[in-house]
Amino acid sequence: MNRQVEQLAATLNCEADRLRHRVVFMEVCGTHTVSIFRHGLRAMLPASVGLVSGPGCPVCVTAQRHIDAAIELSRQEGVVIATYGDMIRVPGRSGSLEKQRGLGADVRVVQSTRSALELARRNPDREVVFIAVGFETTAPATAVAVLDACRDGVTNFSILPAHKLVVPAMVALLASEDVRLDGFLCPGHVSVVIGAQAYRPVVKRFNMPCVVAGFEPANILAGLIALARQAADGEARLENVYSAVVTDEGNRVACTLLDEVFEPVDTVWRALGSIPDSGLALRPKYARFDALTRFEIVPGEDEDHPACRCGEVITGRTTPDQCALFGADCTPLTPFGPCMVSSEGTCSAWYKYERHGATKGRKGNRQ
Ligand code: SF4
Repeated sequence: MNRQVEQLAATLNCEADRLRHRVVFMEVCGTHTVSIFRHGLRAMLPASVGLVSGPGCPVCVTAQRHIDAAIELSRQEGVVIATYGDMIRVPGRSGSLEKQRGLGADVRVVQSTRSALELARRNPDREVVFIAVGFETTAPATAVAVLDACRDGVTNFSILPAHKLVVPAMVALLASEDVRLDGFLCPGHVSVVIGAQAYRPVVKRFNMPCVVAGFEPANILAGLIALARQAADGEARLENVYSAVVTDEGNRVACTLLDEVFEPVDTVWRALGSIPDSGLALRPKYARFDALTRFEIVPGEDEDHPACRCGEVITGRTTPDQCALFGADCTPLTPFGPCMVSSEGTCSAWYKYERHGATKGRKGNRQ
């Protein structure tokens, strides 16, 4: 452990000593989750500070109906599916994109929307469908691809629109009666785009401390210290300990692109159901790039595996080790739910770093 991290952990303990009751904070972002596990930060938490993972892994929160729609699209004649890597292994009701590929579907992993559009340009006789998942971090790149396709007259490119917005999900969580939180560690990447000020309504409406933090151990601990300090002082403020990267107003260019191509709509999240204005639909002038419309596919209902507790995991209601399938039936090689598939999923991180007792001797890292 480096000296700075050691000192910050000591400071966190000092702030925790001032707490009048145990508090539970949520790291909203999947990248935070992985960093926290990888660097063993949970073992450094004082007994009076709990930390739970939230709905910040884009693959994990994608509703099963969208996975099923992607699978249905992969079965269409002449269609090439272009997707980010983690998505292909997420189980839907009838297998996964990976399974479809084994059955002959053309499913390709791409690193960017630019590559997906390039695929369409190089294959004018095929229909390329990009599976557009992720938060405000990845949505601007999808917007650029749609604008480029529009400008260049690429007619064989479309997207399955499943992007999601973080703040409405935070609001929905706080509005749930059975979720008790004392503060949010707000996502660094998303905040680069939407700006720190985007969390002010959450602070104001729910009297909830919100701290924007980066992903290095020192920055995460700085965020937790800020949250613990606010809790000890009985305050609820917006703080940004990642100001070297995140501004108050965010990236205006990216936001303008988003606003040009998409409009907010109610959308279904895994475990959270339909959340008002939490998804992005193509605006009418770009509606021809919507693959669901183009191929006349109507997403069905969700039917998650009855024993899988991903929904509770991504809302901080339980931890992966409390799922009966964890580590035995459900492993990264045999995933039952998206939380075990995605590299940013809590079950996957828990399996990788926690199951061998990485937090042995921990004091306060369980909900
Ligand atoms: S361990 Fe597997 S089955 Fe259990 S909640 Fe996690 S992903 Fe779902």
